[in-house]
Amino acid sequence: MEIIRADFYATCFGVDRALKITNDALKSENELFCYGELIHNNDVMENLERKGLHIVNDLKDLKDSNLVIRSHGVGHSVYDYCMKNNIRIIDATCPKVRRIHGIVRQQCEAGYDIIIFGNKNHPEIEGIKGWCENSVYIYSDLNEYKTNHKHDEKKTCIVFQTTYHINKYNEIKEYFYSLNNNAIIVKDTVCRATELRQEAARKLAVVCDSVLVIGGKQSSNTKKLYEICKELCENTHWLENSDKIPYDLIKNSKKIGITAGASTPLEIVEEVIVNVRTK
Ligand code: SF4
Repeated sequence: MEIIRADFYATCFGVDRALKITNDALKSENELFCYGELIHNNDVMENLERKGLHIVNDLKDLKDSNLVIRSHGVGHSVYDYCMKNNIRIIDATCPKVRRIHGIVRQQCEAGYDIIIFGNKNHPEIEGIKGWCENSVYIYSDLNEYKTNHKHDEKKTCIVFQTTYHINKYNEIKEYFYSLNNNAIIVKDTVCRATELRQEAARKLAVVCDSVLVIGGKQSSNTKKLYEICKELCENTHWLENSDKIPYDLIKNSKKIGITAGASTPLEIVEEVIVNVRTK
């Protein structure tokens, strides 16, 4: 049996960085709070909670404490609130998300309205919105924009959620370039980490008899990897860790593919591989 890893898999740079910042802080602090789940992975979260990390969903529960900001980032008001309430911030906002905060802030100062393409319920979008002083509009795709947007005459800067689909981004960019409207600026803020993992999953699934997709059940990017692989390789399975390996279903496979979502640490992937090899 051959085990083949996807060319790109497991945690991205931003999630790795957030985990390192949090683990380092937990070495000197007995208790830390995190605004929402740090990453969508139960094993990792349970481990961090054992070390002293607590999840809060409402900042009003905090005072005189330490707060981790996760990689999705937050709006300006969270920093203001923490400053007023003596809450020390341990900032794990991904630099690629922070760049978007800087862009929208600067463009608002220059008099631009902001359009964000992405999922309006995602915390990253909430955070970006929180740095916009001028009008901000959020659309999931070009159709929604064309149907609803009535402010074409205004100076507008367009940004994208970091995990926005690259093909949709290209479609939107081409559309606005074709308008030849100098009042509209399109900024490429898409992070290629998700796209690279999805392309690698496609490449993997077509050459394997079975694929193991490793990642938390709440992780939307892991779900997407699972769907991609399942479409190309029927014997694809989604598991959270090595306790859930479907040995019976993969035992006759000559080539087993391995991929993992952007919130799955490498250690969990390696543990699965060792278990598959030694069983
Ligand atoms: S997917 Fe990209 S933007 Fe999001 S945390 Fe990872 S590196 Fe940062």
